[in-house]
Amino acid sequence: METPKVNSIVIVGGGTAGWMAAAALAKVLKGKYPIRLVESDEIGIVGVGEATIPMITLFNRILDLDEDEFMKSTQASFKLGIEFVNWGRLGDRYIHGFGVIGQDNWTVDFHQYWLKQYQAGKAKDLSHYSINTAACLENKFIRAQANMPNSPLSQIAHAFHFDASLYAKFLRGFSEQRGVERIEGKVVEVRTRDSDGHVESVVLQSGQIVEGDLFIDCSGFRALLIEGALKTGYEDWSHWLPCDRALAVPCASVGSEITPYTRATARQAGWQWRIPLQHRVGNGHVYCSKYISDDEAAAVLLSNLDGEPLASPRPIKFLTGKRKQSWNKNVVSIGLASGFLEPLESTSIHLIQMGIAHLLTFFPAAGFAEADRAEYNRVMSQEFEWVRDFIILHYKATERTDSPFWNYCRTMEVPESLALRIRLFGSHGRVYREGNELFTKVSWLQVMHGQRIRPQAYHPLTDLLPEDEIQTYLEEVEQVIAACVEVMPSHAAFIAEHCAAGLR
Ligand code: FAD
Repeated sequence: METPKVNSIVIVGGGTAGWMAAAALAKVLKGKYPIRLVESDEIGIVGVGEATIPMITLFNRILDLDEDEFMKSTQASFKLGIEFVNWGRLGDRYIHGFGVIGQDNWTVDFHQYWLKQYQAGKAKDLSHYSINTAACLENKFIRAQANMPNSPLSQIAHAFHFDASLYAKFLRGFSEQRGVERIEGKVVEVRTRDSDGHVESVVLQSGQIVEGDLFIDCSGFRALLIEGALKTGYEDWSHWLPCDRALAVPCASVGSEITPYTRATARQAGWQWRIPLQHRVGNGHVYCSKYISDDEAAAVLLSNLDGEPLASPRPIKFLTGKRKQSWNKNVVSIGLASGFLEPLESTSIHLIQMGIAHLLTFFPAAGFAEADRAEYNRVMSQEFEWVRDFIILHYKATERTDSPFWNYCRTMEVPESLALRIRLFGSHGRVYREGNELFTKVSWLQVMHGQRIRPQAYHPLTDLLPEDEIQTYLEEVEQVIAACVEVMPSHAAFIAEHCAAGLR
């Protein structure tokens, strides 16, 4: 063991990352270690992380949150998937729905039987075999019905759209109730120890010195400790994920549908998100500054809103990639300080969650051991790389030739790990999930198919079943899903009954 025991924890930054870390550590460590969080109201937070994926329900369960209360506090809506518009070709539209597709109770994956019939022109599009996607298309929602294990209604997987600023506030209340001390102030200096280079304290503008043993850097893009003090270095992935700017603007939602999905519409040099909340719609344009100016990007965004903009677009600059080590010496970086990929598949909050979960696994209570640090860095790199490849796929799998941006994306080299997946799907429609990878086989399937990668053949083992049996089964799955969606309430009605913010 290299260092003395860890007795206290200092979190620098109070955005989504800082307060998620504070809440989870306070809950799990049960007050055994004093936790202090330093944040600066003057600097503020990024505050546009509004869409999540179903893994967040696990985080909520760890905190023991009442989901309806959490939704009321954050003006949240439900999310069953993401609709992608104009990605494969202009005019294309598909939904990446969470959860399962069909039923995997056969020797080969359900989708192989579907693929066989689809290639023969006898099966409908994938959306008919996913309860999540079918519900999205009808703007319906209900939580998974655990008491109906044989029904697709038990397989609904949901996440949330929420107001990120309200989320940080909500988690702050949760954390302070459990003993986390918040210190308001701007960090102006980070002091390191000569003996081992560990961070020993941060100095605030007021002169206050905050000392600690374990520092969690949640200072956002500034990366005050992990980069500013420790010069850890950054892996630049912008050659694969070239977008480097975003403009965000909320708009009024009067008269617009509160859809249970995020929409990601590809534009000439990037893409635009639409995230419906209870009180407004969140919008943003993610783009590559090499191909479009900020003014043009703002004009594209503002001319594609549901209602009146409620603010001026807020520009945010970023470089896609990740810190060379998420954990360096006694500093663990979580959130934007540890890296940033695209918000395209709403994975940043998930990566925060993973950073916290792995930190708890390798919690350095007895001191900082090199083996723990190295393993934490390996698993976090793997988490980032899995997400990276999935996001690159959306840019690479396009037939668009209408702008220099899309010409670049279509023809760029991709990591071999992704190229292999594309080749495997292209030959026999094969998809796989590596280890504990975030995205499932059907996630890969939906994006590959949705963006027009067409396999040359289907899995040969499907020929062992009589074709009429396969056809009947596919039709049954489709009919059962349609019947389930029919009885589901509308998304708006479900929110109004269970978790409307106005009912507080
Ligand atoms: P920040 O929100 O930037 O917080 C940094 C904190 O550090 C603040 O409290 C600040 O006050 C403090 N700080 C900084 N410097 C100092 C200092 N000197 N002294 C004291 N305090 C300091 N994620 C998703 O999961 N889904 C999405 O849909 C999504 N969309 C996004 C869209 C865009 C355009 C961007 C850029 C990000 C998006 N994200 C999304 C990511 C998400 O916003 C972030 O992962 C999340 O908000 C975490 O941010 P953070 O807490 O790391 O940083």
